[in-house]
Amino acid sequence: MPAPTSAAPRLLMRKLRELMASPTAPQERLDKVAELIARNMVAEVCSVYALRSDNVLELYATVGLKPESVHMTSLRVGEGLVGLIASEARHLNLSDAQAHPAFAYRPETGEEDFKSFLGVPILRAGRTLGVLVVQNRSHRTYPEDEVETLQTVAMILAEMIAAGGLEPLARPGATLDLRRPMRLDGVILAEGIGLGHVVLHEPRVVITDIFADDPARELVRLEASIDKLRITVDDLLSRSEMEKAGEHRDVLEAYRMFAYDRGWVRKMEEAVKNGLTAEAAVEKVQSDTRARMLRQTDPYLRERLHDFDDLANRLLRELMGKTGIHGLGMLPRDAVIVGRNMGAAELLDYDRERLRGLVLEEGAPTSHVAIVARALGIPVVGQLDGVVSLVETGDGIIIDGEAGHVQLRPQPEVEQAYGEKARFRARRQAQYRRLRSKPSVTKDGQQMSLQLNAGLVVDLPYLEESGANGIGLFRTELQFMVASSFPRASEQEALYRQVLESAGDKPVVFRTLDIGGDKVLPYIRASEEEENPAMGWRAIRLGLDRPGLLRTQVRALLKAAAGRELRLMFPMVTHVAEFSQARALVEREKQFLKKHGYAVPEVVKLGVMIEVPSLLFELDELFSQVQFASIGSNDLMQFVMAADRGSNRMAGRYDTLSVSFLRALRQIVDKAQEYRTPVTLCGEMGGKPLEAMALMAVGFRSLSMSPSSVGPIKAMLLELDVGKLRGRLLPRLETGRNPSDLRQFLKSFAEEQAIPL
Ligand code: PEP
Ligand code: MG
Repeated sequence: MPAPTSAAPRLLMRKLRELMASPTAPQERLDKVAELIARNMVAEVCSVYALRSDNVLELYATVGLKPESVHMTSLRVGEGLVGLIASEARHLNLSDAQAHPAFAYRPETGEEDFKSFLGVPILRAGRTLGVLVVQNRSHRTYPEDEVETLQTVAMILAEMIAAGGLEPLARPGATLDLRRPMRLDGVILAEGIGLGHVVLHEPRVVITDIFADDPARELVRLEASIDKLRITVDDLLSRSEMEKAGEHRDVLEAYRMFAYDRGWVRKMEEAVKNGLTAEAAVEKVQSDTRARMLRQTDPYLRERLHDFDDLANRLLRELMGKTGIHGLGMLPRDAVIVGRNMGAAELLDYDRERLRGLVLEEGAPTSHVAIVARALGIPVVGQLDGVVSLVETGDGIIIDGEAGHVQLRPQPEVEQAYGEKARFRARRQAQYRRLRSKPSVTKDGQQMSLQLNAGLVVDLPYLEESGANGIGLFRTELQFMVASSFPRASEQEALYRQVLESAGDKPVVFRTLDIGGDKVLPYIRASEEEENPAMGWRAIRLGLDRPGLLRTQVRALLKAAAGRELRLMFPMVTHVAEFSQARALVEREKQFLKKHGYAVPEVVKLGVMIEVPSLLFELDELFSQVQFASIGSNDLMQFVMAADRGSNRMAGRYDTLSVSFLRALRQIVDKAQEYRTPVTLCGEMGGKPLEAMALMAVGFRSLSMSPSSVGPIKAMLLELDVGKLRGRLLPRLETGRNPSDLRQFLKSFAEEQAIPL
């Protein structure tokens, strides 16, 4: 690698730094910045354009153009050379600017005297904040190192704009784009309204040192971190499970290719040679890549650009010596977390008391992060493409988990309106609380059992607060997901005992560990990467293959429920034979405990989750063996429709209220009745009023849901004549006529019958 040579850019950076720190009035400072750049780059013109919230680039400072054009000259994004640079987020280097087809003449500037033109976007995290231009009278093409220098300077201007340095210069009513209020539309992942301030899930590493005193040392640091990065990626590829060809390998190969990409590395080295620290250099190139990513429509290329983004993040962490990424200690009181995606365990890392909401670029309603958020009452809106680039830490933000919107930097009126909405919601919650002691009986006298989905100690008070009839699904894996190491048997037992004690007389259904899929335990490294983990070695499959794990858990459950009733079910059962195996294991553990003098539960009831479609073809055998069953509609839907429950693109594509899915559910509930086996549905579907209404009509008398759903579902069923709805729905299901119409039909029914949804 060549040694850093050019001292001039470094000098420029140093002078800029001094200038930024000087106590100068904002306009004067910006003018001096322009002057300094022009002088150092031997340019006759240097102009700074800032992007306003109305998508117009306004000239904020210039040397060389007519001074009276400052704050007067403006170009729309896409208009003229400056507008083109902003819209494409790419630099333009022209020896004859006026010959370029996009050139737009602005007589007030006097720029006709200048032939050559170099303009670069002012980028921050991929977002364009303005344009920086130098011009010369003569025809010249600016060499590559000058382009680099100008880009680096633009980065410093971006910092200045982001820090609010240009705001005092804005004319009344003309706000800068960076502060622009925006409304983004996404998908509701967890209902609720949250007002607060942005906290980035993967915070932009705050680079305090942009300028390096010792570029040679920075190059060494950069090189070392790139080497480490390459080793990690090589390591991943050399694992034995990666040896087989396949899509996962292709993806990693691409990743490796990028890590070795000369162009990428060269750009970062250039930036270091121009005076930046290694961190600042990585960030500069990352911002550039992000800008391209945001403009890229081809999904494949976007993914690849995401790879570069990930690599840059890794590099930054490597350089800053940061392993944890959450900045957890600094969470403000009203934090709205914004990120690309998040696992359920990561959400649990945050202090719940301070969380007002979660905003994701990806995410699907049945992903576990969404489920956990619902359980915790945290509103989530997902599938907001590019949102991470649009926000700054500390920006005001409102999350509207009723409409699926996010309001960025809201105006005071919007904030007020949402404050009102949040208060209205609270009043409605109070109404629901009043319903909690009312029996869950439909208008035509059908008794319904409403139960809770839970998994953490924090969920337990909801049993009392919501007035639910019991816990229909206790997801035991959540304890494992929040722990930093494997929970010991005694810890498991203590939790189960606490759950049973707080439930009192109300029944609790425990589900054995459902790990695998997207429920990854941070402290267990998968021995083998799977291409389709949701269909892989998870839940009961893992439990039966590693009986030690299941045995410990079963023993903890049996001990915790000593002297009472234990209800236990197994997830992801595919064949009845798996249930028999699991039942035998429980029986053995029971005998073992008895033999060693331990008290055991008075009654042990064993059941299964119905979430793999194969069980639908074994219902007779199943219901003659199990004591109860619970339909996991999240997984059952995923496998019936062959549509990944965590995929953005699949979210909303297939409807749970479709003829095929409702028929499948009806078949289960009918068969369960035939065998007098109690059956519940505990997927997310049961917590939605319209869906729950359909389920009741199909024959369900028991549903298990997130705590926040109990109120709305009860309000719905109190007004429901379930017999009437059944009479109208079943013929539609049987004939399959108007199949796409079921949702609409149910809505109209609710409206006609004044059923609150
Ligand atoms: C389901 O699959 O519907 C279910 C309740 O289980 P989980 O969401 O935990 O996979
Ligand atoms: Mg499931």
